[in-house]
Amino acid sequence: MGVNDFKVIVKKENILHNYHYLKKLKNKNIIAVVKANAYGHGIENIVKLLTEEGCDYFAVSREYEAKKILNFQLKNIKILILETIENLDLLKQNSNLEMMVNSLSDLKNILSNGISTKQLHLKIDFGFGRNGILEKEINKLEKIIKEKNLKFKGISTHLFAADYKDMLEIEKKFEDIVNILGKERFEIIHTQNSAGIISVEGKNSTHIRCGTILFGLQEIGYHDPKIKRAFKLCGKILGIKDIKDLKYIGYEKKEAINLGKNNKIAKIRIGYGDGFSKRSENIMSIINNKKFKIVHISMDSSFVAVDESVKVGDEIEIFHDLQEAINHLEVPHYEFLSVINDRIERELI
Ligand SMILES: *Cc1c(COP(=O)(O)O)cnc(C)c1O
Repeated sequence: MGVNDFKVIVKKENILHNYHYLKKLKNKNIIAVVKANAYGHGIENIVKLLTEEGCDYFAVSREYEAKKILNFQLKNIKILILETIENLDLLKQNSNLEMMVNSLSDLKNILSNGISTKQLHLKIDFGFGRNGILEKEINKLEKIIKEKNLKFKGISTHLFAADYKDMLEIEKKFEDIVNILGKERFEIIHTQNSAGIISVEGKNSTHIRCGTILFGLQEIGYHDPKIKRAFKLCGKILGIKDIKDLKYIGYEKKEAINLGKNNKIAKIRIGYGDGFSKRSENIMSIINNKKFKIVHISMDSSFVAVDESVKVGDEIEIFHDLQEAINHLEVPHYEFLSVINDRIERELI
């Protein structure tokens, strides 16, 4: 790793603050969702950090991610896979691995493969349309469960960020379904993702199942000011050139690029090969507390229009102002860091 390389620096203290704050706020245990490389914060660092802090439940979306956590060889943790995977042998081989059952046909298939129901969580869907057993299938589900007297590890639903009234309605419907199926059949109950934590009480659930809020990334409109953001994407200025000495910036003729009042070009070592999308051209970066525009992005490096105040070796931060980047890129901020790949080191400080 070169001295000028970019890093995602993650503040340990803020992750731990969020973890303990949420635990206390809801008075429930946490299933820490660490999919997508812990939303870009570095899955290995985060899982190990939270494990040391007493967190023993993690959730991911892919088999690949579950295997990654298994490889950390941590004792006494449970891993819940949120999507249905085909490799059921993996569940048989690892009793600490659990899976969401996302449809009735999945349930039948999984049971016929002899997977223990102690590794399964039923997922009920209320029109989110992504994953889950539908409301209209509950009678069939009830029949299967009662016939075989099945007891599961858990039952869950997804309180997506619809409006408050919808959420309360879903919560009520879910409660009714749990009672129909038999509450005693489920060791744990979990309904709340990050938006659900802030907006509803979750009175019948034993666990919260959250990702973004744990990392301090909050949904617009579901804001808790006590939650702290933890990441900083930063690197150093590698070199500076005077614009009058250049014909091109990257592969672009310099006339094609709007430098504003600035007359110097600083090179930094991050590019779309690192997952820093070319669409990020024209977002602002911060150098010495001043804003400067990133004017060109190539595979391995990018260029920033700067003035006399900027020197080689100065620190530059990208995605400091999330709202500004959201406005410019028109993608949710959860995406910014998640797509930064592992050419960029994650460091806990
Ligand atoms: C991603 C995911 C979560 C976490 O959602 P956040 O909004 O990041 O808290 C919870 N549950 C399921 C099923 C998910 O897929």
